[in-house]
Amino acid sequence: MRTLVLNAGFEPLAVVSDRRAVVLVMRARATVLEVSADPLRSPGTKLDRPSVILLDRYVRPVVRRPGPVSRRAVLRRDAYRCAYCQAEADTIDHVVPRSRGGGSSWANLVACCRRCNHLKADRLLEELGWRLDRTPREPAWSVRPGLWDGSSAPDDAWLAYLGGVAA
Ligand SMILES: [Zn+2]
Repeated sequence: MRTLVLNAGFEPLAVVSDRRAVVLVMRARATVLEVSADPLRSPGTKLDRPSVILLDRYVRPVVRRPGPVSRRAVLRRDAYRCAYCQAEADTIDHVVPRSRGGGSSWANLVACCRRCNHLKADRLLEELGWRLDRTPREPAWSVRPGLWDGSSAPDDAWLAYLGGVAA
């Protein structure tokens, strides 16, 4: 189970294990905002399982430049959803095909399912009457690596706090 950690300014900072979250709360470094329905059990104790916690002091987030564009990075950015039909994506697509001068940039690559990739082939969206459900762009920043990878589905309780991050 994981806990969403909000910075003191309420912006999402990280996702940590619930046990790590309990430690932060017990050390008076954070306040519990949301509790999960099922408690955390260890021998002899029963603790509320924090779902969302708020740090008491502002932590400067580790802002990482987005890495080089890659298949995996694009799939991650797009949360593994096809930009054309919203099915699960297993590949990436050049919006403007390479054969038509499209480059391998963040702005021209989207997550895509094999079916749409095959249907689209070397055509432009205008020629197919297709639309993108997003504007592909370089990720602006990422939170500490390994903590929030953007690819795992957030808990329902987090949604109110995630704002633009999960979208
Ligand atoms: Zn598709």
